[in-house]
Amino acid sequence: MEKLDLKRDYYQMIINGERVDAISKETFTTYNPATGAPLAQVAKASKEDVDRAVNAARNAFENGKWRRFPVNKRSRVMNKIASFMRARFNELVELEVLNSGKSLSAAQGQVMQAIEDFEFYAGAIVGHRGEVNNMPFGFFNYTQKEPVGVCGQIIPWNYPIMMAAWKIAPAIAAGCSIVLKPASLTPLTAIVLTEICHEAGVPEGVVNVVPGPGSTVGDAIVEHPGIDKVAFTGSTPIGKDIMEKASQTLKRVTLELGGKSPNIVFADADIDAAVYGSLFGIFYNTGQSCEARSRLYVHADIYEEFMEKFIEKTKQLRLGDPMDQGTQVGAIISRDQLEVIDGYVQSAIEDGATVVTGGQEVKVEGFENGYWYAPTIITDVNHDMKVVQEEIFGPVVVVMKFSDEKEAIKLANDTEFGLGSAIWTKDQGRATRVANQIRAGIVMVNCPFSAFPGTPFGGYKQSGFGRELCIETLDLYTETKSVLAYYGGKPLNPLGV
Ligand code: NAD
Ligand code: MN
Repeated sequence: MEKLDLKRDYYQMIINGERVDAISKETFTTYNPATGAPLAQVAKASKEDVDRAVNAARNAFENGKWRRFPVNKRSRVMNKIASFMRARFNELVELEVLNSGKSLSAAQGQVMQAIEDFEFYAGAIVGHRGEVNNMPFGFFNYTQKEPVGVCGQIIPWNYPIMMAAWKIAPAIAAGCSIVLKPASLTPLTAIVLTEICHEAGVPEGVVNVVPGPGSTVGDAIVEHPGIDKVAFTGSTPIGKDIMEKASQTLKRVTLELGGKSPNIVFADADIDAAVYGSLFGIFYNTGQSCEARSRLYVHADIYEEFMEKFIEKTKQLRLGDPMDQGTQVGAIISRDQLEVIDGYVQSAIEDGATVVTGGQEVKVEGFENGYWYAPTIITDVNHDMKVVQEEIFGPVVVVMKFSDEKEAIKLANDTEFGLGSAIWTKDQGRATRVANQIRAGIVMVNCPFSAFPGTPFGGYKQSGFGRELCIETLDLYTETKSVLAYYGGKPLNPLGV
């Protein structure tokens, strides 16, 4: 595939190793959320384009050029993708910032993680293998891991390149073919990442990208009989819809959905570490994270001390030019999302809560037409309020007091979600007890970060199922074949004929 600048006016979709227009020739505009200005045109896929992409993916799977490629060579291509990404690191970061409005430092970390995902799976796939099982005399059984087939992958706008990497890397490591649909708000880095996959030697048809609306393109993927598995990251309501529709063709389904993660600060915590971690936990990526620690529980004995620091630091957070290395909080993805966030804050006020700081849209100098919202802290809430129970997906945290470990666990688990959670304490015994009792896929202990390549990421309850970013993910992109043989010599005659 011809190498182009990553920044362009028009991005085509990628089907069968080629950049192509939509069959309809339609395009849509993608924007820079920090300025509100149009950024580029993107080919707008339709159901017919999904058919083309599925055919290409199916042919690639059947011809075996990738699936049957020796695993060490597949691994080498994946490392090559990573090194090509490293070579274009700054370009990838800039494109991600332009299309998402996130801060430079956030984008740098996320592009680096996307690179490391390819490196992780390049290594992990080499050790991914079947087993030989103990059998009665004369019988022999081995299992082998075979790619699940053609995978439809649908991703959200909050971590555009990282989500693309979380989806593409384990799937191609396993030998699958892909039809990927990026979010319409942020399609660009997923498209260029797919181009890089081809430059690095992934054969045509293995990775296809079809940008377009969820209601048509997403739906066509979920219902397509030529697709074997759907991997989805996004909101819980759409996840439920996908699971229902995918049942018609009995597709394998993995879902990474919403969250409302608790963050518990015990009285014996290192207060400064807890303040820094809690700021990062909610305001990183402008709060647009499924694992955002959006419910903060602080022990009554340290509440005043903690809150004084937490509020002061929140007020100091720097919003500004996303391309500035010193900017700490970027833009909101869209006007619609900003309205959703503000609607939650207004509902909290109507319910009698107190907005301690933030709670409004802000104008950032030089970015007056962009979408910016002040980092927001809300107190005086009760556990039934919408703002405590529903995912906001913005820079808004609710804070509550608690008085003992049992109460903290009860409050933490009082949610329909179960993705992340965090505990701040110097007592290792307490950390272990609480970690054991929280119903969530991830527990962070004195740690601001929720994941690295290699650590499982995924939810309990209505946060979905399946794990990404880890070894187990490879099981979710493979089927296990059991080969059962008899070598006992004497013919078996089980019917006694
Ligand atoms: P969304 O569910 O609206 O959209 C996600 C993706 O699904 C997009 O690509 C969208 O176009 C597509 N889509 C929309 N309707 C569809 C349909 N009917 N059929 C098939 N596909 C469809 O979510 P969003 O607004 O893009 O992202 C925010 C949400 O994603 C939040 O709720 C957040 O919690 C969740 N999220 C979860 C994780 C996780 O790992 N658990 C990660 C990131 C985001
Ligand atoms: Mn949405």
